[in-house]
Amino acid sequence: MYLSVVVPCFNEDESIPLLVERLAQAIGPWADKAEIILVDDGSDDDTWAAMETASQQVPQVRGLRLSANRGHQVALTAGLEAARGERIFMLDADLQDPPEILPDMMSMMDRGYDVVYGRRAERKGETLFKKLTAHLFYRFLNVLSDVAIPKDTGDFRLVSRRSLDAVLNMPERSRFIRGMFAWAGYRQIGLEYVRDARVAGVTKYPFRAMLRFATDALTGFSTKPLKIATRLSFVSLFVTVFMAIYVFGSLLLYNTAPGWASMLLAISFFSGIQLLTLGILGEYVGRLYMESKQRPLYFLSQETGEPTLLPQGVD
Ligand code: UDP
Ligand code: MG
Repeated sequence: MYLSVVVPCFNEDESIPLLVERLAQAIGPWADKAEIILVDDGSDDDTWAAMETASQQVPQVRGLRLSANRGHQVALTAGLEAARGERIFMLDADLQDPPEILPDMMSMMDRGYDVVYGRRAERKGETLFKKLTAHLFYRFLNVLSDVAIPKDTGDFRLVSRRSLDAVLNMPERSRFIRGMFAWAGYRQIGLEYVRDARVAGVTKYPFRAMLRFATDALTGFSTKPLKIATRLSFVSLFVTVFMAIYVFGSLLLYNTAPGWASMLLAISFFSGIQLLTLGILGEYVGRLYMESKQRPLYFLSQETGEPTLLPQGVD
């Protein structure tokens, strides 16, 4: 097997027929040694039926169905673990990432790169809010993280077997796959592309999911937020000293101290800081707890196309 294509799909029944059609075109030169792995991330629409149909029509298509919705990054991981290719191409199901870029990525890899990631030169059909938050997120992440994570990239990329194996060797539960590839090292290069609008359906990343994704990335690749508490304690010390001077000074000079207003201000200021640092701490402790449980990331419930990954007796 030379080329594996991996696509996580959550409620994408409308996109799948077109996706498979365009992918079958794009893998043209390598079609006889390629596989297209579609992962159904516990969809509640007809995604699985669409995958079964696709696997009957296109011989390269394999479908994997997860037992429940586990999120984009875990669904992608499930597909990556099933991939058998020497080179692995991953993209979103909604065709925001054009499969037609594959030959360009392949020829870049021929020149000795292990990771060729797509860099979004432009984003079509996305809200101003999404573009702005994404823009800020990648910059903020790079300030905090010790690993240089390429800006404005997604998981849309072609990777070599050895870099994939490196990532699959990382057992963490909070997965930020694009960062894990960056961390793994090897030679990487970006290829600019225009990110299209979705062909069908709606985004599966509402604001809440975006926020969780961002905190996963931040906590997964930096411990700097934990050190913020130390820095804030200096701020609090400074303000306290300043206020003490003011209070004692006015006691000495005017025989009167300022009243409750400044006290209220100080109390709310410092309890705010305390809650913030406690919250940051909580993010890390919660993740420690989840990691320590060592639960499997996902379970497969169904499979279509070759070969079989399911244990005996499961249907
Ligand atoms: N996705 C998934 N599980 C989820 C959410 C999303 O497998 O819980 C898939 C989705 O089907 C798509 C990809 O992840 O193929 C990216 O999601 P989406 O296009 O909704 O994100 P956006 O492009 O809006 O950031
Ligand atoms: Mg999308």
